[in-house]
Amino acid sequence: MAEEHPTARKKKWLVAVSFLAVFALVIVFGPGRLVRPRFSFASQDDKADPNNATEQELKKSAENKPPRPLHTHRSFSERIHQRQMMVARQIRARDVQDANVLAAMRTVPRHAFVRGRDLRRAYYDHPLAIGYGQTISQPYIVAYMTESLKLDPNSTVLEVGTGSAYQAAVCAEIAREVYTIEIIEELAASAKSRLKELGYTNVFARAGDGYYGWKQKVPFDAIIITAAAPLVPPPLIEQLKPGGRMILPLGSPYGAQTLVLITKDDKGKIRSKSLLPVRFVPMIGHVTKADQSPEK
Ligand code: SAM
Repeated sequence: MAEEHPTARKKKWLVAVSFLAVFALVIVFGPGRLVRPRFSFASQDDKADPNNATEQELKKSAENKPPRPLHTHRSFSERIHQRQMMVARQIRARDVQDANVLAAMRTVPRHAFVRGRDLRRAYYDHPLAIGYGQTISQPYIVAYMTESLKLDPNSTVLEVGTGSAYQAAVCAEIAREVYTIEIIEELAASAKSRLKELGYTNVFARAGDGYYGWKQKVPFDAIIITAAAPLVPPPLIEQLKPGGRMILPLGSPYGAQTLVLITKDDKGKIRSKSLLPVRFVPMIGHVTKADQSPEK
C-alpha cells in the first residue's frame, strides 16, 4: 500500500486545523460581528433589534412603524469622515448636544444636496447657493434649529422653505413624518426628486406658499421656517399642536434677524424666546403683503 508522504500529511493537518479555527471564530463572534461596519446611521437603533422581539411585538411594531429613510443610496457611504469632522468641529464644538441631531447630521449626505460645482465645499462651515437666489443653510444653523424643536420618533414636522431639502432630510432622520413646502416651483420639483432618489419615504414635499401651512396634515408637533419672516404667520401658529414648538428667523430681509422659538403650551398659550442673531434669505409670498399695515 502506498503511504502518504509526511509533508503532504502535515499540509492536510494544517488545512484541517485552520478550517476548524475559522469555524470556531464564526461560531463565537457570528458572521455579522466579524464584518460589522464601524459607522452606524441615524434611525438604526441596536436596541430596536427585531431579533429580540416576540412575534406579537414584531407585528405591532410593523403596524405602527412609519416608513424610515432607507440609507441604501451610495451617497450615504461616501464622505463619512467629512461628516464626522463637520459634526465634531462645527456642531458639537458649538454645544449642540442632542444625540439624535448629531447622528442625523453624521448620516445625511450633505454633498448630495449641493450643486456639482460646490461638492468640494459641501461640508464647509457656511451656506451655499442652490440657484434661484436661494441657499442651503450653514450646517451649524441646521443642527441648532433642529435641536431646538426637540424632535422624537413620533414627531410630525412642517417645514416652510424646502430649498435643497437638506433640512427636511435631517428632520426625517429623527421624526416620524416631515411635510415641506417650497414656493419656487423648480426648487420644489428638484427637492422632491432628490428626496425620492435618496430614499426619504417619510418626507412629503410640495410647491406652494408656506404662509398658509398644510391644512390637511394638521396639527404639527414642530414647525420650522427657513426663510426670514417679518412676522409669525398666524395660520402656522394655529397649525401648531398644544405643547408644540416652532422656530423661525424673524426680522427684516435687509436688516437684523433673530432666530425665535415659539412655544404653545397645553392650554394654547403662546410664548416666544429670542435665541440667536442670524442672516437668512427672505420669506416671500403672502407674508410680504401681510406685513403692510392698512395706512401704507
Ligand atoms: N431649508 C433649506 C435647505 O435645507 O436647503 C434652505 C432654505 S433657503 C435658506 C429658504 C427657502 O425658502 C428658499 O428655497 C425659498 O424659496 C423658500 N421660501 C421663501 N418664501 C417661502 C414661502 N412663502 N413658502 C415656501 N417657501 C418659501
